[in-house]
Amino acid sequence: MVCAATLTLPIVAQDRVVNIYSARHYPTDEALYSDFTRSTGIRINRVDADDAGILARLRAEGASSPADVILLVDAARLWRAQIDGLFLPIRSQVLEQAIPPHLRAKPSEDGATAWFGLSTRARVVVFDKQKFKPEEFDSYEKLADPRFKGQLCIRSGSHPYNLSLFGAMTEHLGPQKTEAWLKGLVANMARTPKGGDTDQIRSVAAGECGLAVTNTYYLARLMRSDKAGDKALMDRLGVVFPNQSSWGTHINIAGGAVARHAKNVDAARRFLEYLASPSAQRHFADGNNEWPAARNVRFDNPALMSMGGGDFKSEIVPVSTVGMNQIRVQQMLDRVGFR
Ligand code: FE
Repeated sequence: MVCAATLTLPIVAQDRVVNIYSARHYPTDEALYSDFTRSTGIRINRVDADDAGILARLRAEGASSPADVILLVDAARLWRAQIDGLFLPIRSQVLEQAIPPHLRAKPSEDGATAWFGLSTRARVVVFDKQKFKPEEFDSYEKLADPRFKGQLCIRSGSHPYNLSLFGAMTEHLGPQKTEAWLKGLVANMARTPKGGDTDQIRSVAAGECGLAVTNTYYLARLMRSDKAGDKALMDRLGVVFPNQSSWGTHINIAGGAVARHAKNVDAARRFLEYLASPSAQRHFADGNNEWPAARNVRFDNPALMSMGGGDFKSEIVPVSTVGMNQIRVQQMLDRVGFR
């Protein structure tokens, strides 16, 4: 399309492209990106990095940043970026209707929202069925019980998934009890933390540890694997959604926002709206094994179904609280020697 604006303002973006900085490290998302381009004609340029890398890059680039959309995989980082003014709050009826209030930023006075949760993941406990019964650790607190000495496998305490879980625990238990709990976790470790969540699951299946903490989608990915070895591995494992009789299982949010200095704001909004659409939401569940953030999305992922299909009590702690607790949590981790 040629119009006067194109000729007089060649620098101004035309909204036929959207530049995405993404911390989503999931190959199944490719289908979403190509589907968006097919249905809107808007091309996608994508930069992949982890949450921290993206935030550092946005800060360094300032107003010259080419980023239009930011996708992060941790609620506390979404909150941090919002506080640091890295997002452009937007109005979108589509997003406001699709995403429940507790899964998006609190609107500002003019009603604009800084970020929207697009999917959730629960942080659960997996255990070796040959060693334990699920009722033995129906709460996160019990993971610190001395009778599990030498049994626990968990990734680094400083990883965002754990920082958010521990930040929420600080809210529930208070800082003193949380620090004692973290000390108990360290005392129960089968080994010094290493690897990601999938490595912890595999280590339980291999008998190296009796229990581990993991996000649900890593577990579901292994459940759905067609490798014969993975099937045998999963047969040995049980899953517990902790704290069902108290405050609920910890969930984390993967979400998106428009970048503060976006040049293609309209395309960015359309992309986020697309991700909240029923088909994209179903894809998060069926393709990447996450729980949809939007209301009333039907999915038929057999692994998610085998974990109750999302019918569990999830914790509701304000994202800002979890975020604010993180510095304190990191100090506790240093004191108790949780690497
Ligand atoms: Fe992950």
